[in-house]
Amino acid sequence: MGQQKITVPKGTKDILGEEVVWWQKVEEVVREMANLFGYQEIRTPIFEQTELFARGVGEETDIVQKEMYTFQDKGGRSITLRPEGTAPVMRAYIEHGLSVTNPRVKWFYLGPMFRYERPQAGRMRQFHQFGFEALGFSRPAVDVEIILVAYLIYQELGLSELTLELNSLGCEKCRPSYLSKLTKFLEERKDNLCANCVRRLEKNPLRVLDCKEEGCQNLFKSPSFPVIEEYLCSDCRNHQFKVEAGLENLGISYQINPFLVRGLDYYTKTAFEVKTGQLGAQDAIGGGGRYDQLSAALGVPGVAGVGFAAGIERIVLLLEKTQQETRPKKVPCLYLSPLDEEGEKQVLRLARELTKWRVPFYCDFADKGLRYHLKKAQKSGVKWVLMVGQEEIERGGFSLKNLTSGSQVFLQEDELLRLLQKEKSLC
Ligand code: AMP
Repeated sequence: MGQQKITVPKGTKDILGEEVVWWQKVEEVVREMANLFGYQEIRTPIFEQTELFARGVGEETDIVQKEMYTFQDKGGRSITLRPEGTAPVMRAYIEHGLSVTNPRVKWFYLGPMFRYERPQAGRMRQFHQFGFEALGFSRPAVDVEIILVAYLIYQELGLSELTLELNSLGCEKCRPSYLSKLTKFLEERKDNLCANCVRRLEKNPLRVLDCKEEGCQNLFKSPSFPVIEEYLCSDCRNHQFKVEAGLENLGISYQINPFLVRGLDYYTKTAFEVKTGQLGAQDAIGGGGRYDQLSAALGVPGVAGVGFAAGIERIVLLLEKTQQETRPKKVPCLYLSPLDEEGEKQVLRLARELTKWRVPFYCDFADKGLRYHLKKAQKSGVKWVLMVGQEEIERGGFSLKNLTSGSQVFLQEDELLRLLQKEKSLC
């Protein structure tokens, strides 16, 4: 009996072929924008102590309740594959003593995250995010900067028709009065809540606003449903006003969504989400906000923070859908075709020289004849194909064919390198 085929685990995927070029494009734009705005890269571990997310993301969130990849390592420690990047970034900030030595930092990250979710298009168990975090800044201008960075990245990628939704979640001073009003409202209508929300109501009523169940959604539409905006303290109101004015100043349009609470507990004041109408149910392609209470949850009160994270899978889906004609191509300048074993040696020697001249090439060691090589080269879209076999070795040079014009020349190595050095910018 044959063995069962091994496939990728459910909710994960390989990224290869034409798709990977889009990934590289996204990463390139992210790195460029980070560089322009002066955000330094931070790389935190893929796994952390479970406690970090339980405390940082919030015990009552869907992430912590249902979605974490948690296991005991061989030393009996509870470990979790990171479901998001902000709590690890704050952990690193605290651990490296930055609140004392360098309290204001701007960081970005790129990498895989893990959530045990029901997979579907745009919702994976291993997915990838890039994120920007500004720590130690409490001015609303930094909230605006973070939104601007996100906005410019989407713009640079050519993504349009996006909606920016904005809300304020208040702070530790004003949120309690909203929560008590919300709790009262929901308690009185408990029969209409789903079982999950009945539990949320006791532990963390704000999470109810996250619910997608129809019965709960209907409650939100009630004209008497309490909206947080009306309960904000003057500090939060003022902050929100300045964020909105800052966005207007930059010509970035937004919609206020009073139900936007985001799936993580640590947000205070600004919360935002970027949505597209082109991906069906998985419409959020990025989101973030201010998290001035996160550091306290990790034992060091008083570190302000604001940031956002975006899902690369969804952005790539969107790029594939809307930007096909501008898909970046990765074609080498030169195709190296050895026609026999001696030719292979020449090709490898030449490959080393070409790297010095920074000419991109591809060596095909297929052990095939000229016809195969020309066909393969043509298919790859390359402009130049170099052939080397018995005849070329005897004559001490290389045959170079221009696949665009069809002309072929015989060149010595120094002539060849000079030509390619000139040509590479045109490839
Ligand atoms: P969050 O950390 O939940 O605020 O998510 C930030 C962004 O990550 C979302 O807007 C999505 O674009 C993306 N994202 C979150 N969860 C997933 C997932 N399971 N699969 C793919 N992308 C995701």
